[in-house]
Amino acid sequence: MRFTALIPCAALVLAPTVCGAFEINLDKIKSALDRTRDIKPNDDNSEADIGAGVAANLLGAAPLVRNEKLQQYVNRIGLWLAMQTEKPDIPWHFGVLDTDSLNAFAAPGGYVFVTRGLLLRMRSEAELAGVLAHEMSHVLKQHHLQAIKKNAQVGLLADVASIAVDSSKYGELKQKAISAGTELYARGLDKDDEFEADRMGVVIAARAGYDPYGLLGALQTLETISPQDSNVALMFKTHPAAGQRLQLLDKTMTGKVDKYGSQPQLTERFEKVVGKYVKQAK
Ligand SMILES: [Zn+2]
Repeated sequence: MRFTALIPCAALVLAPTVCGAFEINLDKIKSALDRTRDIKPNDDNSEADIGAGVAANLLGAAPLVRNEKLQQYVNRIGLWLAMQTEKPDIPWHFGVLDTDSLNAFAAPGGYVFVTRGLLLRMRSEAELAGVLAHEMSHVLKQHHLQAIKKNAQVGLLADVASIAVDSSKYGELKQKAISAGTELYARGLDKDDEFEADRMGVVIAARAGYDPYGLLGALQTLETISPQDSNVALMFKTHPAAGQRLQLLDKTMTGKVDKYGSQPQLTERFEKVVGKYVKQAK
């Protein structure tokens, strides 16, 4: 267990200056995505390449919220969480999508998005961290990439993953993979992938010094929302029921992660940033 070694770092979470130098310009992610469009097969790995295409499609459906402070805040938390994972160095990008729908998404290669609708329903930084860590776990376990590979329509994808691919075919295969990846958001991942991401998410959040019950708090909120509410339609269609996720998580955490339940939720810091954004948005 890496908990013991990493938990002393928890204090760092409380010091906003740790990642204070991090700056993000709202157009930066988008232009980075645009640049990756023409990438050649051996310029970069295909996972990041496909992820960039899928992320661009997600951003096309709902742009980023135009509030730099809010985006910085979410990126700071995401990058801190990334440092607790086995892949701290992949190009992680975090963003808040400008839509009332309640959802969160991950795309291969390190793209993680949460919607404004979901963010505004959260009550603490620990809840946000839990949701981000869940999505990051999909990236770490390559759930989307594996699901794309399984898709019969892109049977040739194995070639995309290989460096020795015929470059004339690369663009076509990549496009197929990107469409299949984007289509996954309407269909959802396997339930087991979701449960695995829940389990991993609470562990990453605990390592980062947060109360690992944050994810459960966010799930409890989802559980109270009527399935008739159109803002949760996609989320409910593509995920196992929140009640079932809570039940399984509770079981997994007992005797293991629950001892970190006294770690901070950082409610005030969350309210300060998100509250300010809400005020400005009015
Ligand atoms: Zn998920």
